[in-house]
Amino acid sequence: MFKVLKQVQDYAKESWQAAKYIGQGLSVTFDHMRRRPITVQYPYEKLIPSERFRGRIHFEFDKCIACEVCVRVCPINLPVVDWEFDKAVKKKKLNHYSIDFGVCIFCGNCVEYCPTNCLSMTEEYELATYDRHELNYDNVALGRLPYKVTQDPMVTPLREFGYLPKGVVDPHDLPAGSKRAGKDPEEILAATKAEDSN
Ligand code: SF4
Ligand code: SF4
Repeated sequence: MFKVLKQVQDYAKESWQAAKYIGQGLSVTFDHMRRRPITVQYPYEKLIPSERFRGRIHFEFDKCIACEVCVRVCPINLPVVDWEFDKAVKKKKLNHYSIDFGVCIFCGNCVEYCPTNCLSMTEEYELATYDRHELNYDNVALGRLPYKVTQDPMVTPLREFGYLPKGVVDPHDLPAGSKRAGKDPEEILAATKAEDSN
């Protein structure tokens, strides 16, 4: 008798919990019914990456002094700096440079610490390949100018959601020149300069 009662009690408890979870799930669904869709029709539309986005690294061969600082500050010692000592000029001569983006975590340390600023982060994020070995970029591939969403005539660039005007949630059909929420980098720079001069 008690066993049956216990089973009924467990069943009622589980049913109540299941109903509660369904209610929680549906509350999220109903909440979204009041919002407008903000789907981006990729690859015909692409979001403009945010400022300071850390995408594929660009490398300038002529500026590199083969100091290997980038290797030492990299958490996984990733950049490969192939150099030889040129006795005639008593300087290091860079032969090859490469970074494997299949392993890189895009932390930006190498860019931050490079003494000659020959490394920079770009806004290029479409690096998918069929073969992971193709992600190992040599100095020629690293030196290629980055792809920009705003310069591709086949693509409609859309403002990233964090850079839409205040109260706007849809990046489509934005009037040209509409001001984003918050300050532009130029305004922040001007304010900082003004503070410094005071
Ligand atoms: S830190 Fe800069 S200059 Fe030094 S080896 Fe790396 S890329 Fe070249
Ligand atoms: S971005 Fe980070 S992980 Fe990638 S090469 Fe530079 S330091 Fe290494």
